[in-house]
Amino acid sequence: MSRYYLTTAIDYVNSRPHLGTAYEKVTADVIARYKRLAGFDVHFLMGNDEHSQNVYKKAVEEGFHNNPVAYCDRMEEEFTAVWKALHCSYDDFIRTTQPRHKAAVQKLAQAAYDAGDIYEGVYEGWYCVSCEAFKPEKDLVDGKCPIHPTLTPEWIRDKNFFLRLSKYRDRLIKHFEANPSFLEPEIRRNEILRLLDAGLEDISMSRAGQSWGVPLPFDPDSVVYVWFDALINYATAVGYGTDDARFAQWWPADLHVIGKDITRFHTVFWPAMLWSAGVEPPHQVFGHGWLHYGGQRMSKSLGTSVDPVEAAAKFGPDAIRLYLTKEITYGSDGDFTWERFEERYNVDLANNFGNLVSRVVSMADKYRAGRITPAGDGGRLAGVAGAAFERYRKGMDAFELHEGVAAAYELVDATNGFIADSAPWKLAKDPANAARLDAVLFEAAEAVRVAAVLLRPVMPSSCDEILRRIGAPVTGSDLRLDHARWQSAAERATVQGPPMWPRSEPKETIVTEPAAPASATSAPAAPVPAATAPAADTRIGIEDFLKVELKVAKVREASAMPKSKKLIRLLVDVGEPEPRTILAGIAEGYQPEQLIGKTIVIVANLKPRPMMGTESNGMVLAASGPGQPPILVAADDSLPPGTRVG
Ligand SMILES: [Zn+2]
Repeated sequence: MSRYYLTTAIDYVNSRPHLGTAYEKVTADVIARYKRLAGFDVHFLMGNDEHSQNVYKKAVEEGFHNNPVAYCDRMEEEFTAVWKALHCSYDDFIRTTQPRHKAAVQKLAQAAYDAGDIYEGVYEGWYCVSCEAFKPEKDLVDGKCPIHPTLTPEWIRDKNFFLRLSKYRDRLIKHFEANPSFLEPEIRRNEILRLLDAGLEDISMSRAGQSWGVPLPFDPDSVVYVWFDALINYATAVGYGTDDARFAQWWPADLHVIGKDITRFHTVFWPAMLWSAGVEPPHQVFGHGWLHYGGQRMSKSLGTSVDPVEAAAKFGPDAIRLYLTKEITYGSDGDFTWERFEERYNVDLANNFGNLVSRVVSMADKYRAGRITPAGDGGRLAGVAGAAFERYRKGMDAFELHEGVAAAYELVDATNGFIADSAPWKLAKDPANAARLDAVLFEAAEAVRVAAVLLRPVMPSSCDEILRRIGAPVTGSDLRLDHARWQSAAERATVQGPPMWPRSEPKETIVTEPAAPASATSAPAAPVPAATAPAADTRIGIEDFLKVELKVAKVREASAMPKSKKLIRLLVDVGEPEPRTILAGIAEGYQPEQLIGKTIVIVANLKPRPMMGTESNGMVLAASGPGQPPILVAADDSLPPGTRVG
């Protein structure tokens, strides 16, 4: 089996991780899980960066003067609790204060020293304590660090040891030329190539007069500079300095997943450090973009930070994992807001994938007592699934995670459309259609199975549950990519369950179409249904409210209205002999095929209204916040059509 070793950046533990930090871990976890699905023997490393002056300062502030490691112990618990809440499946969690790391750092520093690549000098310059890096004068913005505009860099003059980085410039250029995929995406590679073109200066690799860090083996009064120390964690974790056989087995790393701001450290300093010590550089580095909050940089000090545990708790960890993977082009910057998150949850999970699973399982239950049997080699969905599989694999292999997810959703959408077109509820009325109904139910369930296998790296626990409900023969970590190929064998037993992702309902409820004008007759001492009443007396009496006949309806058919951006034509069952046609202004919130099977609420006694050449017989209730797409007011699926609401 081929091995695949991937890592994330390790984090300073001076504060708890925010959702921007979690973005990196979740997307790296999606890659790790995808590689496992693809049959690789994966080693996935995450960890904490503890030898930072910021961490040391924070430990002192928190009262850990005598034992900063005890502070780091506490932070390790906090960090790993967050990563577990997000279902990150790391195999190893490294901490840079561990003895194994001290051994590795000292071995690499000594090897570089012995190779003549480390020399003593004096360094002075502007130093940003938050970046833990010297900042060239030209990079400062109004005298401040460009990444930390609230901090003034300090002028520092130090006895330092330097790494002869300049010596490796030509070799780095050749390496980039010979390995076009060494740094991705392309925009990041171009940045580094420009930097190399401009020439390289030697870099400081030690700090004098500090005790927090790994002592230099050739000058124990100095410690190794935190960046030089941190990069070595990737080698430490697979045995560098402690287990040569293991190191030979797992090095070079296949992939370092890092933020776009630290590509220089990983693709210039790090290869030079490794070459100097006679070790191969990693195969590949991916520099992802930043996650913003409402268009602003996510930062605790700016108050634009999102707690990843809160995000995972809102709709379950898989919902936030899907958001981070599907809504952001991997490699570019992305944005998060709670409103947008809720909207995507309702569209992608509650209305789309979750509703599809419910419908397939409940139809299998209703029409075939939960036993579905294959009939033929699959119809049109088999073809869609095959194409989605190829697009998915191509996207995932190229770290276009958003593309992989989009491919899986193509299949989900097509399956919703297939059910609408095949109308199993019509087929079920005539026993002559039994074979066709069998085929439709199996085909829809098989398409759901394939989609769940493809989406499992993103939503592991939900997809396992979906696979269980539709009676998939293989689930969990036994799944391989080949299981995402179409299968038309063996009877399957489906299992009913509560909604996977219940809709999240907005708090404010308004009607999207103009309501029938409320009668202004004065209301005597009748009870008012709403708890709060506005100051101006626009209240209505209960007798007025009771004039409005609200009823539960089920959507049987839905289609777009030609030439209308807002209207969808619905055929709804209101428990009457004939279904009704209603035109609803909800096209900005829904695709027609998502609506089929929904249980909604309508105003049943509205006078018929002609609209765009069609007569609308009633009005659906929907809610929408300012500037938001409308969301239908849903009723419980167990309510039969025609049930009075009020
Ligand atoms: Zn800075």
